[in-house]
Amino acid sequence: MALELVTIPCRSDNYAFLLHDAKAGKTALFDAPETAPILTALRDRGWTLDDLFITHHHGDHIEGVDDLRAEFGCRVIGAKADAERLPALDVAVEPGDPLDFAGHIVDVIAADGHTIGHIAFYVEDAGVAFTGDSLMALGCGRLFEGTAEQMWGTLSRLMELPDDTQICSGHEYTAANARFALSVDAQNSALIQRADNVSELRAAGQFTVPSILGEEKKTNPFLRAGQSDMKHAVGMDHASDAEVFAEIRRAKDNF
Ligand code: ZN
Ligand code: FE
Repeated sequence: MALELVTIPCRSDNYAFLLHDAKAGKTALFDAPETAPILTALRDRGWTLDDLFITHHHGDHIEGVDDLRAEFGCRVIGAKADAERLPALDVAVEPGDPLDFAGHIVDVIAADGHTIGHIAFYVEDAGVAFTGDSLMALGCGRLFEGTAEQMWGTLSRLMELPDDTQICSGHEYTAANARFALSVDAQNSALIQRADNVSELRAAGQFTVPSILGEEKKTNPFLRAGQSDMKHAVGMDHASDAEVFAEIRRAKDNF
């Protein structure tokens, strides 16, 4: 039976995500930016919370954790490496640890770069990855704690997932990301088309998240750092993938 995915807008530009298994009667939350909209989304559907997965320690991803735990007594899961900076964890995981939600395997993927200790979750049964502030729609998170090399490693791991994977990332930054992407990859027709589509969605007040990994590979300049036409576009034909990524990330920081 299919798992249902619900995207919940929170704060000014954050997203939280619910995954619901109707047969098991169980619900998981991925990141808790704000309590009220998450409670409303659950109550509207008559769901309670069983598991709460955290991608990283920033306040705009964990603010609602303690309130939601108090309300539902849910299991809180986060990175062992970041345990001191996260709310109290019931399950402290390391990348590769076995983990499941309602019998569905949840892969824990190391996603350092934006922060150290950032993790992503992949639920194959749902075809969904929860990437927080690592891989984002047409972008990637700023490097607050990690190096460009670490973020490139993260993006490379995520690119190994199936192309039809839905990428549930933490923010609605896509329109601004598209403007930057066009500045470094102006000849990319798939990008031009996607940027138009993003403008239309935003004008209609619609979400651009989740996005699809296969489309990200064709249009996200950070994921394209290893592709020869992208290297050429930034004048770095002979540089390593990680060097090209670092240069694109620097350019975005100064955009
Ligand atoms: Zn963050
Ligand atoms: Fe964030």
